[in-house]
Amino acid sequence: MTNDVELTPMMKQYYAAKEASKGAILLFRMGDFYEMFNEDAYKAAKTLNITVTTRDRNKENPMPMAGFPWQHLESYMARLVAAGHRVAVCDQMEDPKKAKTIVKREITRIVTPGTMMDESMLDPRSCNYLASIFVSESRQGHKGRKSGRRVSSVSLVTESVGALDVGTSENSSLAVGERDVASCFENDCYVGLAWVELSTGRFFATTTTFDDLFDSLARISPSECLIQEEVRRAFPEWILERTTLTQRPGWVFSRQTALDTLLKHFGLTTLEGFGFDSSSSDVYALQAAGAALDYILETQKQSLDFIDVLSPYRSEQYLEIDESTRRSLEIVQTYRDGRRDGSLLATIDRCSTAMGSRLLSDWIACPLKDRRKIELRQDAIEELISRSEDVGKIRDSFRSVSDLERLISRIVQERGTPRELASIGKTLQCLPQFKEFLEGSTSALLQTLGRRLTLQTELCCELDRAFQENLSLNYRDGGFVKGGYSKELDDLHDKEKGGKLWMAEYQAKEMARTGIPNLRVSYTSVFGYYIECTKSAVSSGKIPEDYERKQTLKNAERYTTPELKKFAQEALEAKEKALELEMEIFATLQRKVAAECAAIQRAAQVLAHLDVLIALAVLASTSNYCRPQMVDEPILTISEGRHPSLDLNCASGEFVPNDSVCSEEKGFLHLITGPNMAGKSTYIRQTALLVLLAQIGSFIPAKEATIGIVDRIFARVGAADELTRGQSTFMVEMIETARILNNATRSSLVILDEIGRGTSTYDGVALAWAIAEHIAKKIQCRTFFATHYHELTDLADIYPGVTNLNVVVREWRDEIAFLHKIEEGAADKSYGVHVAKLAGVPKEVVVRAQEILAGLEDKQVTATTDLLRQALRELSTNKKQKKEPVIQFSLLGPDNHPVVEELRKLKIEELSPMEALLILERWKKIVDGAPTE
Ligand code: ADP
Repeated sequence: MTNDVELTPMMKQYYAAKEASKGAILLFRMGDFYEMFNEDAYKAAKTLNITVTTRDRNKENPMPMAGFPWQHLESYMARLVAAGHRVAVCDQMEDPKKAKTIVKREITRIVTPGTMMDESMLDPRSCNYLASIFVSESRQGHKGRKSGRRVSSVSLVTESVGALDVGTSENSSLAVGERDVASCFENDCYVGLAWVELSTGRFFATTTTFDDLFDSLARISPSECLIQEEVRRAFPEWILERTTLTQRPGWVFSRQTALDTLLKHFGLTTLEGFGFDSSSSDVYALQAAGAALDYILETQKQSLDFIDVLSPYRSEQYLEIDESTRRSLEIVQTYRDGRRDGSLLATIDRCSTAMGSRLLSDWIACPLKDRRKIELRQDAIEELISRSEDVGKIRDSFRSVSDLERLISRIVQERGTPRELASIGKTLQCLPQFKEFLEGSTSALLQTLGRRLTLQTELCCELDRAFQENLSLNYRDGGFVKGGYSKELDDLHDKEKGGKLWMAEYQAKEMARTGIPNLRVSYTSVFGYYIECTKSAVSSGKIPEDYERKQTLKNAERYTTPELKKFAQEALEAKEKALELEMEIFATLQRKVAAECAAIQRAAQVLAHLDVLIALAVLASTSNYCRPQMVDEPILTISEGRHPSLDLNCASGEFVPNDSVCSEEKGFLHLITGPNMAGKSTYIRQTALLVLLAQIGSFIPAKEATIGIVDRIFARVGAADELTRGQSTFMVEMIETARILNNATRSSLVILDEIGRGTSTYDGVALAWAIAEHIAKKIQCRTFFATHYHELTDLADIYPGVTNLNVVVREWRDEIAFLHKIEEGAADKSYGVHVAKLAGVPKEVVVRAQEILAGLEDKQVTATTDLLRQALRELSTNKKQKKEPVIQFSLLGPDNHPVVEELRKLKIEELSPMEALLILERWKKIVDGAPTE
């Protein structure tokens, strides 16, 4: 760094602040500007598109510098943080005019992606969480559930087809990029996970396992994750595409430090009141939470009183959805480009407020499992639908509701503006209307919400009396307090404004005294008050003795007088005092509102809940949704169900509704066959989405429905784009399938799309068969399995509970029409060539394909398929006919084969190419069954 001896006191101050800002870009306030120096200047210039200049231009080593006017702080900071930078703000802590030596400066805040609070930096409809991850060394042991990502014996063993082991090696069964993790930690070690939204004060913690961590992160979608320094290498690089990892020293996660941080902040002696038991595995959650709080305290440097509860998140209360299912069902963002538009959330979001939209996204991320709680929401929605007129008025009132939840946090931190305080006041004014509406309801949930709402009559009256209407963003020059609120302020304003009147009177008096008719008394902000006389008046000798010359112009002279000076002084003081007083009034009101933080936060939650329930009611009534009946048995009857997004986007009546039924009579495992483009994926996704919607309490797009509560939804659909993460599509498909087979219970809902497509036909069909068979025999959960392997339809003859469905296709001459209607029975044709034609494959190619197809059919080449079918059926029905399976190297192979054994022991680095070839040749013979010497 720069030699101390050469530094000016201010630069010494700068370097001290830079040191304290720990690698953040330092915005250093200098007068009306925030300046950045050296590397920071270049980094910021690139992001903000501003010019780098130099300080001390004439010296030999000028210092690179870039800056912007202080008024732009919020927007420029937002851009820097959005570009992934941490930003520290160093402010002037005293009025430079009053400072005797160098102005005192301090770091007032450090802003990072997870600790952003300012409205301008946040998407109003999305939560912005900071997560904290504590990886412990303790293992959950065998209590936990098995996972597809996890190691060993995720075997799709079936008695008939043989052992099709997937992922017998540790690394190969890990999800993409998580290999490093495995080398550092056991996947079932306990992990504490906390997440906090600084802009609203919501704070949660849970204990999970490393294995489930990535599913939880997918649900929470934090913009920043705190991790122990020493575990950084355990986190895969791809995670950086989704979040910023911030390393923290291990000791802040230590049990004692973390608990102390929490207890001190909440002013408690135990955290049991929040529902945590620190002598159980909850302690890991608390360690993560303590570290999160420590980080916030370090970065915020202001009151965190609005974070007043730490809530335990108990995953067993919610419908579980793993990361890949979440992505494939496009619940909160689209699969391809991660946008909100096009997701289920965007389709159903009819909320009037940002608070409502955020709550809805929480609901959809964590659907319920408790039937009673779901029904409470349904009751509320049903009532809201029936009270459409009142609801219309309440929706209108939501227009005056501002984002209380986020505003109150800013107010507690004393970062609010008069405009924000006034908007809180306007929102509080609406509370009586909301309360009356809620308390007049019959639904238990609406009534409870009504009871939770405390009116803030006095506070909102005071805010209304205090602030002018339509305030501008800039409040530094004052002028925001309404006349009549403070007598003292009004008097000062009178004095300040009285200047004009006084000047006119003084001018008349001086004109009379001097006899100069064109004498003027004026004021400019630069020059202050003065008397101006023309040169001719001056030469006429009428200027009195007590006029003191201030300035000479071409045609006039300017003077002041003792009286004018005295007045100027008083007016100036009045203006300054008025501004000071306004700021004081603002600060006092800010504190008054902050004192009601808990009640205002509660009001915010009530409004958000009401908004979401109304939004779901509006959705249900405008889009013709029905109330599903929820039951505990694992059944499903959706009549005339529609895909939520497609239904909305199709012209009325264009979307073809379909039934989804799982029952004793209709079976629980449905194999859906039919040509590509027929609507199989749409149908199975639709089924999953409707169950999910039902479990958030929403009505669903169907004629009627009975839905047995689902504990987990598993979706293995769509081609994964995992190749970029270094894994083959097939590997990913198998990992996900393994996870489903290991974790699904009788109460789960499984949707599978084209399993086995990523491998050769035999492998693929065998796998698909084995998977379906395992579900049919062992898991017996509600399953919708779309497949192009027609062979699989034979399963329906073998196992009870397995049913064939197909999508109706009309064929006329050489044309086909997709009717998108699901009917019972297996499809008999695949129409691949027709689809190719529809897709615009050149005509001659299509014609040629038709010729080949006809030829194959003539020659009954399908016999191969028939043989395969026969074999599969026999393998399933007659165990004795089971043959030793052919060695399948495509699936890692059986563990005990001599070739595999030898391969394991082989030291490739010690082999010459020729030796390697000879070994290969010998193995080939073994595998082919040829004699070896
Ligand atoms: P598959 O999985 O059989 O290849 P998809 O489910 O991808 O077929 O559907 C193909 C297209 O057909 C979809 O893009 C959708 O627009 C349309 N579609 C599917 N189901 C329906 C339906 N029930 N009603 C109307 N259009 C549908």
